Amino acid sequence: MVSRVIPVEAFDLVIFGGTGDLARRKILPGLFRRFCAGQMPPEARIIGAARSDMDDAGYRDFVRAAILEFDPGRPQNCPQLDSFVTTLGYVTTDARGEAGWADLAKRLRDGAVRAFYFSVGPGLFGDLAERLKLYGMAHRQARIVVEKPFGRDRDSARALNATLAQHFAEDQIYRIDHYLGKETVQNLMAVRFGNLLFEPIWSAQYVDHIQITVAETVGVGGRGGYYDKSGAMRDMVQNHLMQLLCLIAMEPPSKFDPDAVRDEKLKVIRALDPVEPHHIVRGQYDATGDEPSYREDAGDARSKTESFIALKTHLSNWRWSGTPIYLRTGKKLKARTSEIAVVFKDTPHSIFGADARSEGVGGGQNVLSIRLQPNEGITLGVTIKEPGPGGMRLINVPLDMSFADALGPEVEEVPDAYERLIMDVMRGNQTLFMRGDEVEAAWAWTDPIIEGWVARGDVPKTYDAYSAGPEDALMLMHRDGRRWREVKS
Ligand code: NAP
Repeated sequence: MVSRVIPVEAFDLVIFGGTGDLARRKILPGLFRRFCAGQMPPEARIIGAARSDMDDAGYRDFVRAAILEFDPGRPQNCPQLDSFVTTLGYVTTDARGEAGWADLAKRLRDGAVRAFYFSVGPGLFGDLAERLKLYGMAHRQARIVVEKPFGRDRDSARALNATLAQHFAEDQIYRIDHYLGKETVQNLMAVRFGNLLFEPIWSAQYVDHIQITVAETVGVGGRGGYYDKSGAMRDMVQNHLMQLLCLIAMEPPSKFDPDAVRDEKLKVIRALDPVEPHHIVRGQYDATGDEPSYREDAGDARSKTESFIALKTHLSNWRWSGTPIYLRTGKKLKARTSEIAVVFKDTPHSIFGADARSEGVGGGQNVLSIRLQPNEGITLGVTIKEPGPGGMRLINVPLDMSFADALGPEVEEVPDAYERLIMDVMRGNQTLFMRGDEVEAAWAWTDPIIEGWVARGDVPKTYDAYSAGPEDALMLMHRDGRRWREVKS
């Protein structure tokens, strides 16, 4: 099966922070892949903007080097790198000064779709929006793409929303959460709302619990000082895990349209219960061998910031009342894995007797596992008879919905989250972007949790690097007679 690539209209895309890490690693190689796939038209223009002094030719060399570094195999398979770099230009600009702004305005074409990617530190988002307006670039067809973090609490997110709203309407603001751009996350919506099968059992009546894990093997390394000001709750739970939970738990929207979907997600966030202090486990990784501890990485021997968090919460609504939701994320864990698991209840009565059940994938229960990384795919654990003689012995095996296998070898390569989202910006589709009220609501749930542990002076537990996290996190589940799914690659 060959998938269709629908080209987007010609556009002007300005990347503020066009020399930064995100632009080099993700945005520019992603745009090159869309160019190779025929989705980005040759008439499109990409303009890098930052303070570094460079001209167009210098930026083309810079981007060529970034693509060769971060996607080295690509130019061999797609010999269009020379054509791609001709779409690039560069303007030396200071978000907080006047240099370059008039020049930038002159470079933009009337009539083309116009987008400004704010790939700079969050302290500059307001300055950029203000200057875009001042220099006449923020017309009604313009769009801005805003990176994370969007605030560090509800007040700062609200203030940022208000600043952006002075210059741009909500339908021009694309708040990125790259988890929403992942193929499997969208497939989760297709599986839920494109099939009748799951809806009747998608509730507290049949679901025992939901667990979401985003585990990383890397520590905070050189970003320690920066990370120490946020921690796992602000960096991961408030945005990425919350977004995943919304898609799992939301009611079916009336149509697949940006506001219909985001209205339903907002209701989920607003239905989240406050979290009891004894349902939160925070951790910091310990030193191992010659690798530093979290506190050494953070440069603060008394840091109380968490590099790991596990918590249990509930949704107060009809569908999910009484179903525990467990969230877990951390750094320097034993494998890099992101998974949403919907664990169904056991059958009400086993006609086969207790002895028939043998352990398999996901124990004896049906588990729908939506895996985001490393191998994107959806698996449903089902109980079958163990093959061979020996009577009726049961085993739980995965019914695998691996997209690559199902769709065949000719299917177009699955786009990375960033490239998909950038193409959505160009198409003017906000479905996979967070709305301002969603972000504020997510902070409104997060803030009291953080304020609580600050007021209590809680200190995170240390955990062994490359383990499954602190022992207490395992106990959070064990106390309820449940267990986390294993963190494995
Ligand atoms: P970075 O490597 O520090 O790059 C920052 C960029 O901003 C550089 O191009 C820098 O270039 C430019 N810049 C700094 N001050 C400026 C000013 N006053 N005026 C104009 N340009 C200025 O940061 P990054 O890692 O790319 O991150 C960018 C944004 O993406 C941040 O909000 C970050 O939180 C978010 N993000 C990053 C990642 C990632 O993997 N890197 C992932 C998720 C989100 P000059 O110094 O030349 O001006």
